[in-house]
Amino acid sequence: MDDCLFCKIVRGEVPAEVVHTTERTVAFRDINAQAPTHVLVVPRQHFANAAELAAGDPQASAELVTTAAAVAVAEGHGEDYRLVFNTGAGAGQTVFHTHLHVLAGRDLGWPPG
Ligand code: C5P
Repeated sequence: MDDCLFCKIVRGEVPAEVVHTTERTVAFRDINAQAPTHVLVVPRQHFANAAELAAGDPQASAELVTTAAAVAVAEGHGEDYRLVFNTGAGAGQTVFHTHLHVLAGRDLGWPPG
C-alpha cells in the first residue's frame, strides 16, 4: 500500500528503530512507548488488522506471535509480557496495518484502559 505508514517502515522509506526481522515480519520500537519495552511487530505484507492477517496468511500470523516472544526474551522479559492487537478505531487502532504490541518491563494493570 503506497500510503500506509507501516508499509513504508517495512520498505525502509520511513525511519524506525528495528529490533528484529524475519522472513514475514518486522519488529520496531513504538515511538510513543507505554512501557520500558514497547515494540510493534508487523507483517511485511499489508493487512488491515489481526483477523484479516490470520485469514489471509496464517503462517505470518503465527510468525507475528513467535517474533513477539523472541523480542520479549531478547529484551529480558521472556516470563512477563503483554501482547495487544487493537482492532478498530473504537478499540484504539490508529494505524490500519496489522501490528502486535509487545509491552513489558513494568507492572501491567488489568483491565486495560
Ligand atoms: O494500536 P494502534 O493503532 O493505536 O497503535 C499504533 C502505534 O503506532 C501507536 O502506539 C503509535 O505510537 C505507533 N507509531 C509508531 N511510529 C509511527 C507512528 C505510530 O511507533 N511513526
